[in-house]
Amino acid sequence: MEINDYIKAGKIAGEVRENVRKKNWVGSTVFEICEEVENEIKKRGAKCAFPVNTSINEVAAHYTAEPNDELTISDTDLVKIDLGAQINGYIADTAVTVCYDSQFDMLVKTAEDALNDAMSMMKVGVKSSDVGKTIEKRIKQMGFLPIANLSGHSLEQYTIHAGKSVPNIWSIGSFRFSEEAFACEPFVTTGEGLGFVHEGKIKNIFSLSTRKKTKNKEADRLLDYIWDNFNTLPFALRWIKEWDENEARDLLTILIKKKAVHAYPILVEGNNQRVAQAEHTFIPNENGVTITTIAP
Ligand code: MN
Ligand code: MN
Repeated sequence: MEINDYIKAGKIAGEVRENVRKKNWVGSTVFEICEEVENEIKKRGAKCAFPVNTSINEVAAHYTAEPNDELTISDTDLVKIDLGAQINGYIADTAVTVCYDSQFDMLVKTAEDALNDAMSMMKVGVKSSDVGKTIEKRIKQMGFLPIANLSGHSLEQYTIHAGKSVPNIWSIGSFRFSEEAFACEPFVTTGEGLGFVHEGKIKNIFSLSTRKKTKNKEADRLLDYIWDNFNTLPFALRWIKEWDENEARDLLTILIKKKAVHAYPILVEGNNQRVAQAEHTFIPNENGVTITTIAP
C-alpha cells in the first residue's frame, strides 16, 4: 500500500469536493459539471479515478454526462456529485450532495452526520457490522431510510471495489477493519422511499473486463486505447478522444457485446424518492483513522 499516494490523491479530491460544495450549479448542464470537476482534479496533478458522477434526485448513483449532455440542474434539484482522483492507481473516492430545495436539506445533513458517526468510531479492529449499525441508527433516528443495497468498499491499486463492503445497515457477515484503504458512503432516502435501489436503463459508465482480442481490428484498437488510458478503472464515452462520437459508441457496443467491456447501469431509488449521499476515503490505524479526503 502506497500511503503517500493515497494521501496526495485524497488531498486533491477533498479540495475539489469542497469547491464543488460551495458553487451554485443551478443552470449548469451535467456535461459542464463533469468537465469542470474533472479539469480541477487534473489541474492539481492527479488523474481521474472514474468519470465524475452527477446523479440527480431519485437517481442514487452511476450517472455521468454523455458527450455534450444537456441535462440541466434546476433550482429544485438535489445532486450527488461523486468524484475520484488517483495517483499511480491509488484512489481517493469522495462525494457531496448539493441541494436547491430546502425541504431536503435534512436528508443531506443526515448523510453527512452518518458518515461522521462512522468515521468517529473507526479504528483497526472495529467490526464492519457495527459501522453499518451506527449509520443505520443515525439515519432512522431522523425518520429517513438508508439504502440497504448500496455500500462503501475497500480500495486497491487501480481497483475501486476491491471486495470488502462497508455496509450502511446492520448486516450478518462481518470483518474487522485493518490498515488498508476504504470508502464509506451512506446513502439516505426519505421515509417514503423503499430503501433499495434498482438498475435503470441508462448506462454511461464503462470499464475494461478483459484484454482478450475480439477479431474486430478497430474494436481491438479501442480495447488497447482503454487499457493504455484508463487501465481497469471506469471511463465515459466523453473520454474517448481518438474516434468521433458515433464511431466510438459503435465500437464500444461491440466490446460490450463481446463482454470485453462492462457497462454500469444507473441506480434508481425503488420508490423514486430522492437520495442524498456523503462519502470519504479513509485508512484505519491503531488509534483511529486517517480520512484522506478530509476537508482542507
Ligand atoms: Mn464515490
Ligand atoms: Mn465509493
